[in-house]
Amino acid sequence: MNYLVKKLLYIICLICTTALQAQQLRPEIFSLIDLNYPGLEQVRSLHQEGNDVAAAEALLAYYRQRSHINHPEVNLNNVTISKQEQQWADDALEHTFFVHKGYQPSYNYGKDINWQYWPIKDNELRWQLHRHKWFSPMGKAYRVTGDEKYARAWVHQYMDWILKNPLTGTNKQPHKLISSGEVKRDAENARFAWRPLEVSHRLQDQTGQFLYFLSSPSFTPEFLTEFLVNYHRHALHISANYSDTGNHLLFEAQRMIYAGAFFPEFKEAGSWRKSSIEVLNREIHLQVYPDGGHFELDPHYHLAAINIFCKALFMADVNGFRNEFPATYLDTVENMILFYMNICFPDYTNPCFSDAKLGDRKNEQKNYLIWNRIFPDNQQIRYMGTAGKEGVPPHQLSRPFKHSGFFVFRNSWKEEATIMVLKAGPKGFWHCQPDNGTFELWFNGRNLFPDSGAYVYAGNEVMELRNWFRQTRVHNTLTLDGRNLETTESVCLHWQGEGEVQTLVTENPSYEGLRHRRTVFFVDNTYFVVVDEAIGNATGEVNLNYQLCEGEVKIDADRHILLSQFEGDSNVKLQCFAEKGTTLREEEGWRSTAYRQRVERTAVSFNTPKKQGDTTRFITVIYPVKDAAQAPQLSAKFTTKKFSENRVDVEVKVDNKSRKLSCEWQRDLRFTD
Ligand code: MG
Repeated sequence: MNYLVKKLLYIICLICTTALQAQQLRPEIFSLIDLNYPGLEQVRSLHQEGNDVAAAEALLAYYRQRSHINHPEVNLNNVTISKQEQQWADDALEHTFFVHKGYQPSYNYGKDINWQYWPIKDNELRWQLHRHKWFSPMGKAYRVTGDEKYARAWVHQYMDWILKNPLTGTNKQPHKLISSGEVKRDAENARFAWRPLEVSHRLQDQTGQFLYFLSSPSFTPEFLTEFLVNYHRHALHISANYSDTGNHLLFEAQRMIYAGAFFPEFKEAGSWRKSSIEVLNREIHLQVYPDGGHFELDPHYHLAAINIFCKALFMADVNGFRNEFPATYLDTVENMILFYMNICFPDYTNPCFSDAKLGDRKNEQKNYLIWNRIFPDNQQIRYMGTAGKEGVPPHQLSRPFKHSGFFVFRNSWKEEATIMVLKAGPKGFWHCQPDNGTFELWFNGRNLFPDSGAYVYAGNEVMELRNWFRQTRVHNTLTLDGRNLETTESVCLHWQGEGEVQTLVTENPSYEGLRHRRTVFFVDNTYFVVVDEAIGNATGEVNLNYQLCEGEVKIDADRHILLSQFEGDSNVKLQCFAEKGTTLREEEGWRSTAYRQRVERTAVSFNTPKKQGDTTRFITVIYPVKDAAQAPQLSAKFTTKKFSENRVDVEVKVDNKSRKLSCEWQRDLRFTD
């Protein structure tokens, strides 16, 4: 035997020994599970005889034969693994753990795993280490290859994590425990390792990992008891530490349904399932507006919320308890899907308002096919899932979602469509940004005005970057002295979404002494006239901000014109008509395309000094056009000298063809339509 082979065998033995040494039979498991549960008769009698070693063996045999509990996402007869998952599984054998897409290549956590390693002080990097995203790929790799090395490594890492990440103090909020020395360090670590969202992530994924590895020789009776005791501690921890509200609470409740349904042998399983269905059913009505929008006003968390609600239903379906969900729950989920469909673009991406991720065509289209299984009669969901091959497109084009404050001007459901999605809603939850009045604009295959996005979430080193992308002034809306909005509480004064001229009037009490009223005319299903009025006694510089997508843009600062020079058949001419003294300023412009990824882009502001009591007014004509050289000549003016509380009148000329645009309203329609 050559030296290298000997060395390899030695390392394998060392790994096995370490794993086996770490695990021990945990007799408390026999008080955590209901020994009267059907199928556990032998476990009960062996335990009562005092033979816990044999009882643990019987318990493992029970789970290996168990066939009455199903998993909605794992089918052991058809396990597949992607190239990327295989890579994550293989990297994990070397303790190079896939933690976060925004931090690639992945970091190595050391031969003796350091679960407190925090190379960049972004909270997400530390939190998400404890989601163990490489464990399920290791499980798949094990099933696909049959190679025991994946199972051995998983058992070792699973035990190592338990030993090095104690749940300090009481089961109640360890992350709030303050102590000294070792305890303090453990408590600090527990703030990350035992944050309920991370705990719930493990609670969900470990159901699949259990199935993948259960048949492995490395999955010993002793390890089974360690696994179940640890899993039970996880479920109890969430029960006692549910987040107060928001998407975290939804994730936690959905995953508790997984715990209750997948391990019904635990004494509390029935109550876990029941109480988490109650949480989901309560929250779906609290967190979702009557128009179907989720209250974080973040398109991607909206999508995540749909998937949470659907996952709970799928788990119920495969295990026969769908009837525990009321009909109103399903109606709301369907409404959320229709909302999402309407605010998305033809390439299946969503606006990147708030902390939203862009999404991609393949995955987002697949979502509709998954949802179609729950709503088989909904032809619109079918249409989206099959990219128009089956089903029917939604019969409406432009749509207002007045409770959430999302307004969509749309002239088609096809790729060549012109679509503006404008955000002007109530104060949103944590992920929402102070961006009232902003919009994205799609034309003929390109998003011409994508949102700046989020870039990063939170953590000492990255907070400054996050704050840059959250600024009001990096959105397509109006600011005073470049400051963030003080109040984000838009109302819709008027909506008219059909015919030659479609209109939206929305108003936000942006700053003390300054209201921003924005009127949008969608003319001939072709171009937009945006009228901005800064009303009130505030003084300072009023800024009207616009950010285009990346690519070359010609700027005519004197005539206040932006003309894109993008390749392909999607361009835009933007011209702002404002009061004397208004100047065009080029601004720093970025858009985040994914976590910690950004591209530079053209950004400008039109700036007008505002004296006390004056209303500062702007008209911007935004004219999408295939070929920039063919862009029309534009002009626009107000036809009334003074601002009016209940009407807007302007005149626009496109290649000298004049058009009067007027809009009058009398009431706030936001909640009455
Ligand atoms: Mg934004």
